[in-house]
Amino acid sequence: MEGSMAEIKEEVRKGVELGKRFNKTFPNVFTNCGVDLNLAARALGDYFNKKIFVKNADLSKMKGGISGFTFVREDGVYIVVNSDEPPYRQRFTIAHELGHIFNGDIDLGKIDNLNMVFRSDLELFYGDPEKFKLEQMANSFAAEILMPEDQVLSFMKSGVSVEEMAMFFGVSPQAMRIRIAGILHSQDHKQPEN
Ligand SMILES: [Zn+2]
Repeated sequence: MEGSMAEIKEEVRKGVELGKRFNKTFPNVFTNCGVDLNLAARALGDYFNKKIFVKNADLSKMKGGISGFTFVREDGVYIVVNSDEPPYRQRFTIAHELGHIFNGDIDLGKIDNLNMVFRSDLELFYGDPEKFKLEQMANSFAAEILMPEDQVLSFMKSGVSVEEMAMFFGVSPQAMRIRIAGILHSQDHKQPEN
C-alpha cells in the first residue's frame, strides 16, 4: 500500500479545501443543475490566462484503463475524456482534471509529452506515492465541485432523495451515496453532540 491512512486523509482534506476555494472563486459556473463543466473549464482557463479545451476520444484501447488526461499544446490546454465511459463518469473525469490544473499539478506553460496528468483507477500510479497522493486530492476536489457540501446538506435537510440529488448534480446514485456518507462522517467529527 502507498501511504498511510493519515497521509491519504490529508490529501482528501487538501482536495476538499481546493474544491471549496474553486466554488468560491467561480460561483458563476454553478447553474440550477449543478456545476457546468464547460463553463468551469472556460473560467479556469481565464484565471490562468489560457484556453482550456475539453475533448472526447475513445481511449478504450489505451493501456491502464485511462478515463482521461490533460496535456498542453501551443493553442491551449487539452482535457481529453474517454468517450467510451458513461456520462456520469466523464463528468467526474473532467472535474478531476480541472482539480489537477487548479492545483498546479501540470505546468501550463510547458509543451512537452511528459507534462501530463491523468485519471486512471488502475494501478498506473501505485508505484509512485507522490502521484498516488495527487490522485486522492484530485478525486476529492472533483467530489467537492460536483456535489458541493453546503448544497448537499441543504438538500438533505429538505428531504430530497439520493436519486433526485444524483440527477440534479449529474452524478451516479452510487457516487451520491458515497458523497453523502463522507459528508455525514465529517459532520460527526466536526460537531460533536453537546
Ligand atoms: Zn489524476
